[in-house]
Amino acid sequence: MLLLRERYEVRGVVQGVGFRPFVYRLALEEGLAGFIGNDTGGVTIEIEGPEERVEAFRCRLESEGPPLARIDSVAVRSMHATGEAGFRIVASAAGGHVSTGIPADAATCADCLRELLDPSDRRYRYPFLNCTNCGPRYTITRSIPYDRPQTSMARFTMCAACQAEYDDPTNRRFHAQPNACPVCGPRVWLVAADGTEIPSGDPVTAAIDRLMAGAILAIKGIGGFHLSVDATNEAAVMRLRERKHRYGKPLAVMVRDLDAARAVCELKGEEEALLLTVPRPIVLARRRADCGIADSVAPGIPWLGVFLPYAPLQHLLFTDVRVKALVMTSANLSEEPIAIDNDEALARLEHIADAFLMHDREILQRCDDSVMALVDGAPQLIRRARGFVPLAVPLPFDVPPLLAVGGHLKNVFALARGRFAYQSQHLGDLENVTGLDFFREALAHLMHTFEIEPEAVVHDMHPGYLSTSWAKEWAAERNLPLIAVQHHHAHIAACMAEHGIAGPTIGLSLDGTGYGTDGRIWGGEVLICRFDGPDPGHFERFAHLDYVPMPGGEAAIREPWRMALGALHAAGLDVESPEVIALLGAKPQEVRVLKRMIERELNTPLTSSCGRLFDAVAAVVLGRGVVDYEAQAAIELEACAVDEPDDLGSGYPLEMQDGNWPARVPARISPSLLWRGLLEDLRAGVGKSRIAGRFHSGIAATFIGAAKLTRENTGIEKVALSGGCLHNRRLARLLRAGLEDEGFQVFEHRSVSPGDGGLSYGQAAVAAAILAARS
Ligand SMILES: [Zn+2]
Ligand SMILES: [Zn+2]
Repeated sequence: MLLLRERYEVRGVVQGVGFRPFVYRLALEEGLAGFIGNDTGGVTIEIEGPEERVEAFRCRLESEGPPLARIDSVAVRSMHATGEAGFRIVASAAGGHVSTGIPADAATCADCLRELLDPSDRRYRYPFLNCTNCGPRYTITRSIPYDRPQTSMARFTMCAACQAEYDDPTNRRFHAQPNACPVCGPRVWLVAADGTEIPSGDPVTAAIDRLMAGAILAIKGIGGFHLSVDATNEAAVMRLRERKHRYGKPLAVMVRDLDAARAVCELKGEEEALLLTVPRPIVLARRRADCGIADSVAPGIPWLGVFLPYAPLQHLLFTDVRVKALVMTSANLSEEPIAIDNDEALARLEHIADAFLMHDREILQRCDDSVMALVDGAPQLIRRARGFVPLAVPLPFDVPPLLAVGGHLKNVFALARGRFAYQSQHLGDLENVTGLDFFREALAHLMHTFEIEPEAVVHDMHPGYLSTSWAKEWAAERNLPLIAVQHHHAHIAACMAEHGIAGPTIGLSLDGTGYGTDGRIWGGEVLICRFDGPDPGHFERFAHLDYVPMPGGEAAIREPWRMALGALHAAGLDVESPEVIALLGAKPQEVRVLKRMIERELNTPLTSSCGRLFDAVAAVVLGRGVVDYEAQAAIELEACAVDEPDDLGSGYPLEMQDGNWPARVPARISPSLLWRGLLEDLRAGVGKSRIAGRFHSGIAATFIGAAKLTRENTGIEKVALSGGCLHNRRLARLLRAGLEDEGFQVFEHRSVSPGDGGLSYGQAAVAAAILAARS
């Protein structure tokens, strides 16, 4: 009988996900000899046996993998048969170049959940059960290779029963690094706000009793602490808001299961599927009118961020029939990083939480919950964090090792090497030392995890960003080249890279704020970008929203009525007329001061931002003069139009002015007519929802028109949509549908955020193209 021996090098997510026991079982079933071992690039397998058996093995290897595994490639090599008998799992070998790494955290699997709820199981109600198909990974890991001594489970010595499971290749817990049981594993306890332990037979039940009595609990989870209250208790939710000093920002709500989610939200099939995906993201879905959730959970918007339990401790909370829905919001003050350490949580949250449900399995990486929504019929990542980090996002071309630091708000950095970018978790706003510390901590960890030593550093063009000055210092210390990428260019590049587009593309970058090449604040941009030209760092600006004043600069972001005043003034309206003053909800004196600031160009930068135009319109139409969180006004404007039909004609018109493409003079898109039409509707008593709808239609029709004009001048047929405004479902839908009607090929973000969370990925792509062109 002819014996064949083959060697496979398998790349992808194949470590820490039960891949070796899967292969072991496969080899036994096919009666093959050989071995499997983790290596720093993935796993290596050698297999020996009769030809048809080896072929069957190879086929099943790629088609039957365990649930959390993802095979990117299998390199096959023929070897000489050795006559080896039996199949072995060999020890991990460290060293060399790492291209795999640590898997992402995964929600409790169905098998573990069954055990958790089975009174006869030895892990009945044990809050830390897990197996190779589920459990924490990234957040408990210090270093690679992903083995127990490198995780925060190192200090727990497995009991004989756990060790036997861990050693048995046919067991679901074979090499499950966080394997534990009530005898040998972590434990949970309840602590009062003063730090003293609250004695109780069952800390979980004691915690539930307090929640049901309206208390605020800090509950240690997978990527950090949550602050939790009974989501059906209006007074409790309000107390949480008062203590957190956050009044408007929507809070996420966790419910028992899919049926419970259906009871609070009108879920589409795709939304149900998203809720059940392994990362268990928060999904923004339409709230039911009679859902029983306190109004103050998500004031002013018709959506609710809902998600399902993903850790055994959370499942246990919902085993109590009294618990219907829990607010589960990241335990932090405003935009500072989520608390992970027991002492840190006590210190930072003592004035917020009434009690703490803690445990002694250390969280080593902070990681917020991920947020997704169904946008234009497909899932969109709004916040990429737990369950997605550190999974690689492919790049369309090879990059040298580099670091892209991202932007300022909602920062996410990216490390890249070869064909992959590794984006960090959502790090929050880089506005102070705490934010920067989190950035440094996460960077050190990811560099170590993937053994990436950057050879270039990429940053935003904004000279004032903390990320920019940090990048400059860091690169100087290491003598590395620096590459600056314009904000909206990076947004479009991210969308192009995600879809593997290199050639000329029209980019509609509709965004909040980003620093422009002329020193002004951009954000309503029609760009022409490409990776394949002689100068990939360069882009053309075909058109942009006309500049309007932002009286008071940053203050105009927090106070949209200022933005409205600037926009109305730029549109040629008399802002001191009683009508406008009433619309702004301001005092005549305040209006006079701001008008003078604009005329004298005092602390009044100019902006072409689309997000700020949304803010201005929301201030006038909804009276949203001041916001409590970023983009609140724009979100409420979208919400206001949620029940309007899409087909509202072309909406309020915006005019294209003064472009001269052959001379590379960008066209300006003036909103003057828009304001006149909108004010006329207000005077005529047209409903606010209809006005909000016509505004969306006008913006979409205008940018579709701008894309057509770009095509007439350049012949480009591809359009990439990016920027924070593309989180807006109505706008995304209207743009894509309208552009396709005009024969464009339209590309939207799917695995990278269209908002500033996607910037670093785009920065990495542009830098890669620049470096490739230089070499
Ligand atoms: Zn499991
Ligand atoms: Zn044990």
